[in-house]
Amino acid sequence: MSDNRKNALLSPDVMRKTFDFSEKMRALNAERTAASGKTLGVYVLTFGCQQNVADSEKILGMALKMGYESVDSPEKADLIMVNTCAVREHAEKKALSTIGQFKHLKAAKPSLMIGVCGCMVTQEHRKEEIKHRYPYVDFIFGTSSLHRLPELLYEKTVKGKRLFCPEEDEYLVAEGLGIERDSTYRAWVSIMYGCNNFCSYCIVPYVRGRERSRQKEDVIAEVRGLVERGYRDITLLGQNVNSYGKDIYKNGEYTFADLLFELDKIEGDYTLHFMTSHPKDATRRLIDVMAGGKHIARHFHLPMQSGSDAVLGAMNRRYTFEKYIRKLDYIREKMPDATVTSDIIVGFPGETEEDFEATLDALRRARFDMIYSFIYSPRKGTPAAELDTQIPDAVKSERFDRLLKVQNEISLASNRELEGKTLRVLCDGRSKNNSGVFSGRTDGNKIVFFDAEDSDTGKFLNVKIERGDTFALYGTVIK
Ligand code: SAM
Ligand code: SF4
Repeated sequence: MSDNRKNALLSPDVMRKTFDFSEKMRALNAERTAASGKTLGVYVLTFGCQQNVADSEKILGMALKMGYESVDSPEKADLIMVNTCAVREHAEKKALSTIGQFKHLKAAKPSLMIGVCGCMVTQEHRKEEIKHRYPYVDFIFGTSSLHRLPELLYEKTVKGKRLFCPEEDEYLVAEGLGIERDSTYRAWVSIMYGCNNFCSYCIVPYVRGRERSRQKEDVIAEVRGLVERGYRDITLLGQNVNSYGKDIYKNGEYTFADLLFELDKIEGDYTLHFMTSHPKDATRRLIDVMAGGKHIARHFHLPMQSGSDAVLGAMNRRYTFEKYIRKLDYIREKMPDATVTSDIIVGFPGETEEDFEATLDALRRARFDMIYSFIYSPRKGTPAAELDTQIPDAVKSERFDRLLKVQNEISLASNRELEGKTLRVLCDGRSKNNSGVFSGRTDGNKIVFFDAEDSDTGKFLNVKIERGDTFALYGTVIK
């Protein structure tokens, strides 16, 4: 196997420094707790994708190691961490307005520490904006510097000077930071970070660096540990999860399909999911491994983005609609019961009415169970944002509504087809917005409502589907 396989890891010296600062901060917090009689609280707020959710679990894990306890509101916190997203302008605006609301908390409690991290502040212009317009933010670090949280916190606490952590020259993988998981039965496992694809609309490669994979041994040990601790639903994460291994295992000697095949052999009662996949890396071998798997969910989230070859080319997606649909047909041939979901962007610069109609036709042909649909949002620094063929907002919104109408009919039909069938559902407990009723997710991530008991939370249940709606299924538990 290739000698390059350790290249993606942060050096032991850097990690030692992280752990030393963590210990110093822990000692400092112990003194502060002894003096005040109160354990310091940490509140972590997360915007954006599951990768950010997974990063926030590491931030919380590090904070607990430093002697903080998790609190459920910013008002109770001594440390607030805001983990931001930059994929669309809307996400950035939401994060900035939330940070704005923390100003009065800092005024009321000057010892409060506020840290901002994640994709938004990995961009230089946003870092500058926080520096000048939000003077009560104590420290900032980008996605390459998660491991530096203990150092920044310690330095700020001891020296009192605001800190703006520069991005590392190289984005590397930090193992062993500690993870405080939000759930006792659903877990996120980041298996790789970054992206090499440079889709012309997307900020991710600029704010998360190049692709780097974790060592397979580390991933397998983490998943095995989770299964042994009773986790039922494990999602392997990466911006481009199915290009796992290409950076460290050369010439395709170990691929994502190999990893999935090996993970599937772990004994236990659990389901493996993964996201997000790029169609160019959705190989037949991967689909075959899924089809033959014992624990692998028959769910493929395969973003298509557009049904027009002209738009796909301008997006730099590196496939045509025809190529995409051949992969989809192979998934359905091998797994007729698979759930397939996708991402679609409307209003990409230069998208004509014909291009948009090609996307509607593509939806009718692909018959996705569900889509995540996005109105194109220009991202500073990406090639598409520079194009002078930007689509007016009113046209984008009108197309978005038409897209939803077509997809909603397809989703409804696909959910109705499940009526009368019995599906395995992981119970998430009492639903928040459907009081008294329980909710859960199928292997295909469809939401299901049913009556159950509190003790069923975190367990797999067999649920007979009575009714399929556009966005949810309704059923009865079969004991
Ligand atoms: N790596 C994944 C892939 O290849 O599809 C997706 C990651 S991205 C964070 C999630 C989704 O956000 C994308 O699939 C795309 O549909 C959407 N997205 C990314 N940049 C966008 C932009 N500038 N405007 C609107 N939607 C965008
Ligand atoms: Fe963004 Fe494209 Fe990379 Fe997905 S594959 S993260 S859409 S650049």
